[in-house]
Amino acid sequence: MGRKRILVTGGAGFIGSHLCERLLKEGNEVICLDNYFTGTKDNIIHLLDDPYFELVRHDVTHAYFAEVDQVYNMACPASPVHYQYNPIKTIKTSVMGAINMLGLAKRVKARILQASTSEVYGDPDVHPQPESYWGNVNPIGMRSCYDEGKRCAETLFMDYHTSNNVEIKIIRIFNTYGPNMNPDDGRVVSNFIVQALKGEDITIYGDGTQTRSFQYVDDLIEGTVRMMNSPKEFIGPVNLGNPNEFTMLELAETILDLVGSSSKLVHLPLPQDDPKQRRPDISLAKEKLGGWEPNIQLREGLTKTIEYFDGVLSDKRKVDV
Ligand code: NAD
Ligand code: UDP
Repeated sequence: MGRKRILVTGGAGFIGSHLCERLLKEGNEVICLDNYFTGTKDNIIHLLDDPYFELVRHDVTHAYFAEVDQVYNMACPASPVHYQYNPIKTIKTSVMGAINMLGLAKRVKARILQASTSEVYGDPDVHPQPESYWGNVNPIGMRSCYDEGKRCAETLFMDYHTSNNVEIKIIRIFNTYGPNMNPDDGRVVSNFIVQALKGEDITIYGDGTQTRSFQYVDDLIEGTVRMMNSPKEFIGPVNLGNPNEFTMLELAETILDLVGSSSKLVHLPLPQDDPKQRRPDISLAKEKLGGWEPNIQLREGLTKTIEYFDGVLSDKRKVDV
């Protein structure tokens, strides 16, 4: 495979930064585009000396042009706390971002991959969720700016494909965690780890019996790159996630055990429309992406992530004194 020029939108974020690193390692040229809403230069600072890495401050709600071979469209805040901060901006990022990046892909004949989400299934009444399930999404709730924005982006991708022959790929990412998450991200894995490391109360929303299936970031990156480079006829959507399902209480207990923390569990109100259960059916990914499946299970992935946050927090402590 020759060197490709690849655009990664949201490249300074949690997943985007791992993707930039992987693509550079494979010998590609990478343009990392970000507006730094939830991402940070710290995530990609170690890549800045690479002459094949370019950093662009840009907002995907505005058009952007560059001659590229592939586009990974990852730009969008993913944590409920951050995407609900400015819901109108969130839906604009998904919808206008998709239109702008699809326009670019059409113009330069690039292949483009959309980072969609398990949130397109909403609060699912089919379990586990296969790609054929249309979902159960509230169009006017607190999560709608994200869920409906991502659903509309999938529609745009399909329409640019059928009407304009743009080569598209759609992945539906299930809860992913790992190093480079922001300590203030607000999602459950980072919240519980940071709380356990600081000896603060662990905030369980609701009774903690709701479930999620947690995927370590390296497994996601492997699946994502395989999807981008799969035969052109396979456009997805395809689920990428780890089918091992846990309640939030089980997650909290595992993290407390691994950290060796004596933090206490406290219960806070469950946010509106919080999905009760979520687990991917990954048969399609296995079949189409060369037997892809997650290799890193929860305790191993959490151990690496705890190590990362421990480092970040002790650096912060040094700065604070
Ligand atoms: P993140 O918040 O860490 O990363 C998002 C990045 O996009 C950040 O760097 C942010 O600054 C940037 N961004 C936001 N709005 C932008 C805009 N208008 N213009 C340019 N850049 C912008 O989140 P993440 O977990 O790395 O998620 C990356 C992508 O994967 C998102 O599209 C998200 O919806 C999707 N996803 C993630 C998960 C997960 O569990 N992590 C699950 C499903 C889908
Ligand atoms: N959650 C929790 N405590 C927290 C943060 C989240 O109990 O401090 C719960 C949340 O209510 C949800 C689950 O953990 O049921 C996953 O939340 P997250 O925001 O990580 O992602 P979601 O899958 O809901 O988008």
